Amino acid sequence: MTMAALLADAYVARLERTLPEVRERIARAAREAGRPPAAVRLVAVTKGHPLEALDAALAAGLRDLGENRVEELEPKAAARAGREIVWHMIGHVQSRKARRAAEVAHLIHSVDSFHLAERLARVGLERRAAGIGEEVQVLVQVNTSGEASKSGLPAEGAVDEVCRIAELPGLRVEGLMTMAPFVDDEALLGRTFSRLREIHERARRASDRVGDELSMGMTNDLEIAIREGSTIVRIGTALFGERPGGGP
Ligand SMILES: *Cc1c(COP(=O)(O)O)cnc(C)c1O
Repeated sequence: MTMAALLADAYVARLERTLPEVRERIARAAREAGRPPAAVRLVAVTKGHPLEALDAALAAGLRDLGENRVEELEPKAAARAGREIVWHMIGHVQSRKARRAAEVAHLIHSVDSFHLAERLARVGLERRAAGIGEEVQVLVQVNTSGEASKSGLPAEGAVDEVCRIAELPGLRVEGLMTMAPFVDDEALLGRTFSRLREIHERARRASDRVGDELSMGMTNDLEIAIREGSTIVRIGTALFGERPGGGP
């Protein structure tokens, strides 16, 4: 067998084991929170893994795939053009790459400034003017952990800023996203997520243009995120193993 075929087999075998485990973790956490398991959507984060991982995910029936860099999203999407994939852009997008991100991703989770939102809205307006397609669908990322290394709007003032972004024609704000610190402190993780839920509730009371999605929860903390109301979890390591090149 070729190396590529071996790699493909290894990813298929891994997912046969890990996908039921992850689904069970999600279902159990949802049940414990009194929510239906179907209320939580699983985005399989393929960043740092080769195309074989992506193919294994598709073969296992996954459709929602996530990448955190435009440079990695583009070639992967191009290599599997025509397949039924919903692409999620989950990492920081530089404003000058807004157009490229919007062209490939179906949902951009990581709108972290009004400036980036404006750039994306412009793409949405152009699409509408050209009669090709619709608004750009986004989530607004809020830095509810307060960690300097995380992107996202500062939690302070986030409600007003989310509402301001949601007013931009050409953009559809489906909800909010946050990233928790990589720690085991459950109370801290819980606070990071509940803070996002509270900002979300206030923004939805203030604006009817803010959607109901909450993207929060990764391998390390998905149960806590679901308990706090997550509707989208972004899972890499628990599905595909450690990323070959390392990387966050
Ligand atoms: C890498 C990444 C994930 C997935 O993290 P895991 O710990 O591997 O599950 C989720 N969200 C974002 C924004 C990421 O960059």
